[in-house]
Amino acid sequence: MELTDIGTIKELFSRHGFSFTKSLGQNFLINPSVCPRIAQLGLEGAEDPSEICALEIGTGVGVLTRELAARYKKVVAVEIDTGLKPILEETLADFDNVEVIFADVMETDLAGVIADKLGGAETAVCANLPYYITSPVIMRVLESRLPVRSMTVMVQKEAADRLCAAPGTRECGAISYAVRYYSEPRLMFKVSRGSFMPAPNVDSAVIRMDIVRRHDLSDAEEKRLFGLIRAGFSQRRKQLANPLSGELRKSKEELSALFTELGIKPTARAEELTLDDYIRLARKTD
Ligand code: SAM
Repeated sequence: MELTDIGTIKELFSRHGFSFTKSLGQNFLINPSVCPRIAQLGLEGAEDPSEICALEIGTGVGVLTRELAARYKKVVAVEIDTGLKPILEETLADFDNVEVIFADVMETDLAGVIADKLGGAETAVCANLPYYITSPVIMRVLESRLPVRSMTVMVQKEAADRLCAAPGTRECGAISYAVRYYSEPRLMFKVSRGSFMPAPNVDSAVIRMDIVRRHDLSDAEEKRLFGLIRAGFSQRRKQLANPLSGELRKSKEELSALFTELGIKPTARAEELTLDDYIRLARKTD
């Protein structure tokens, strides 16, 4: 079954009475080279690839799901649109190692899914993410510290640049720091808008975030760290001491002295600090 073939997709849609829901970010992949690459990237570097499981978010007609099922021990996919159910029953019929959960990924207990359905096995998250919830989904997976080895996801090119931007550069945003705190992100390859049906207005890219644990902050310090970053970027054109003085309930003079002690320029803006600068600030300000 060739699920990147437009004729095949249209025939499936008409037979099952399915039509796209734009608000769910339904842009399905029709470029045959993309899904095998995403599936393969999730396995890279694994000691024993035959033991790795996959978690997919948003199956569409199952084009990536099939590539995952062919390579991973078991696949669990979360899809919100129950209208895809009869289609998936047909397109995934060849595989007995796939389970689709029809639910909103933002409401799903993903840790429970990995524990119960994948037996707590090492898991790779692979997805062509619905664009309207790219950042919330990524943050949900990262923050809940799921036992996942990596996330290989397709996102809009602009989002890919921001998610992979090194903290302390012009392209970065608050989310770049969060991503870098939990993972090592890398832009893997670009995907043109013509690779999707219907074609979106922008190009996309596949990024991989390899999960790392390199900081040992307490829960309170971690909470403060992200509070500081959020506050700083809420007024990114201003000198950081302005928004932080409210967040930390300290005078600008006190903050200026603290910045100097930590080797941070007192006039710095949010994007001029490295992740380590924010971490040292969070550790110093309880
Ligand atoms: N994997 C397919 C592909 O590459 O062709 C579909 C990708 S499409 C960009 C995103 C998919 O996510 C759609 O099937 C959509 O219905 C689903 N989706 C949207 N919002 C969702 C949510 N909150 N939870 C789970 N799935 C969702």
